[in-house]
Amino acid sequence: MADAVLRIDGLNKQFGALKATDNVSLDVRDGEIHALIGPNGAGKSTLIQQISGLLRPDSGTIRFLGRDLAPLSVAERAQCGLGRTFQVSSIAPEFSALRNVMLAVQAVDGSSYRFFRPVMKDRRLIDAARAVLEEVGLSDRADIVAAELSHGERRQLEMAMALALRPKLLLLDEPMAGMGPEGSKQLTSFLDALRHKVPILLIEHDMEAVFSLADRISVLVYGNVIATGAVEEIRNNAQVREAYLGE
Ligand code: ADP
Ligand code: MG
Repeated sequence: MADAVLRIDGLNKQFGALKATDNVSLDVRDGEIHALIGPNGAGKSTLIQQISGLLRPDSGTIRFLGRDLAPLSVAERAQCGLGRTFQVSSIAPEFSALRNVMLAVQAVDGSSYRFFRPVMKDRRLIDAARAVLEEVGLSDRADIVAAELSHGERRQLEMAMALALRPKLLLLDEPMAGMGPEGSKQLTSFLDALRHKVPILLIEHDMEAVFSLADRISVLVYGNVIATGAVEEIRNNAQVREAYLGE
């Protein structure tokens, strides 16, 4: 069995009486895309927030590359290689795509105090940012201000901002949301090509994308993982079909 990059054990998080995360155990292995599916309100985003450090679990452990994440802040987790897409709202609309990628790098490498320095002179940073924009297929839009990018392009930019940090695990919370069929198809093939560079925990409602991309799927319902398995296992699991696929 491949090594687990991320290992979650017996994780609990309650909001009042609501068990948003109910004794969740889950791992993401090297080289895999592990999809997390489940109906709205199942607790998927709450789980991601506990991994990235925005929410503190009530109990249970999250280990990343063998290290207990509990004492680490959001920024420290990012520095360890925990990558996630930034919300569209974290893109600075008045700055170019290139500048946004550079700011994302600076925000995490502890150099955000340089925000007002003439960062454009930092050749190495510019080269790195351009390389990542090229990777996501946005190099010809590098100098366009973010406000003028299309929805799909802003999604590509978010991905570039995450990848610029060279993460060792990527957390993606519904990356296809709001995309048309063409955009979803493009993103699917992009993620497919990415799988051997970085393992991914993928939350996604687009089942066509999930079934074509996932190595394994976990199904979350009311905070509980009701099944984990390969695509065919999950598709044929009667409990899953009833609880989630609506059959
Ligand atoms: P999903 O991402 O699977 O749609 P969420 O993780 O966003 O689900 O939410 C899981 C449940 O926890 C929902 O019932 C939601 O209303 C609740 N919830 C999420 N965040 C909070 C919060 N900060 N305070 C109270 N309840 C919350
Ligand atoms: Mg969510």
